[in-house]
Amino acid sequence: MERTLSIVKPDGVKKNLIGEVIRRFENAGLRIVGLKMLKMTKEQAKGFYIVHKDKPFYESLTDFMSEGPIVVMVVEGENAISKVRDIMGATNPKEAASGTIRADYATDIERNIVHGSDSPESAEYEIGYFFSSIEIVG
Ligand code: UDP
Ligand code: MG
Repeated sequence: MERTLSIVKPDGVKKNLIGEVIRRFENAGLRIVGLKMLKMTKEQAKGFYIVHKDKPFYESLTDFMSEGPIVVMVVEGENAISKVRDIMGATNPKEAASGTIRADYATDIERNIVHGSDSPESAEYEIGYFFSSIEIVG
């Protein structure tokens, strides 16, 4: 069993895709074991994406991620990290495989609807960024 952190980003919430994202995870046999809605401040977005602090897109990305409400969730299952990433599709929707969330709904490489942790180490950091142990109900 593995846990990963997924986010319906501000563009996904605006497009009414919260249910669609969750449905795709559940249809793949993954379970939602933690869930909440919140709006990050710019500083909170910068902390979440600290690994990208030296990238040219860091400022724009953290503006975007703090522009509106998001839904954060802990997703559990066998190989949850790679399963969620497969369901999401490639970062750039133009390169995302058909049938993935990003191919179906994302408008550009930044506004790409959904986030998923990329490794066990990042999953641990990202889950801990939003959830305390009593908020995860496995
Ligand atoms: N991003 C961007 N421009 C880029 C690469 C990434 O705006 O050239 C944004 C995009 O929203 C992406 C996020 O930064 O989802 C984090 O980038 P990462 O490379 O970790 O992609 P992900 O893991 O989300 O596929
Ligand atoms: Mg990433």
